Amino acid sequence: MTENCVFCKIIKGELPARVVYEDEDVMAFLDINPVSKGHTLVVPKKHYRNMVDAPDDVIAKIYTIAKKIGVAAMNALGAKGFNVISNNEKVAGQEVFHFHVHVIPRYTGDELRYDVKGYKYAEGEADEVVKKLNEALK
Ligand code: 5GP
Ligand code: ZN
Repeated sequence: MTENCVFCKIIKGELPARVVYEDEDVMAFLDINPVSKGHTLVVPKKHYRNMVDAPDDVIAKIYTIAKKIGVAAMNALGAKGFNVISNNEKVAGQEVFHFHVHVIPRYTGDELRYDVKGYKYAEGEADEVVKKLNEALK
């Protein structure tokens, strides 16, 4: 447990939350400030800052539960699909520094946008980017 971590406090029962799923490793609860009906956060019970620090098996489990919750929202809430999003570090919008994944149920006509495509590669830049990533992933 990390002092003053709001998600650690929820996991310890020191703060209330609307829990939608729980097992020995994972807790999932409604986001306090939802962007859609059923917006859920899937959180490992052990504290990791974000995906950079979390072990691969923890990441795999969190995403597996995220899928289950998304499907449950389709089956039980009338969602027609869902987004699974993880913000890693401040520049990416991370506000709570305890690894979590957002499951955002999507409804016909909800007009949420996560697909704004604004970046334009300069001449030759895309090839450079692929080369650098290929190298970093070796
Ligand atoms: P981030 O931007 O770090 O990916 O998202 C953090 C999320 O946690 C936000 O969507 C925010 O609404 C949610 N959140 C922050 N504090 C609390 C809380 O005390 N309880 C719950 N249920 N959600 C919280
Ligand atoms: Zn924590």
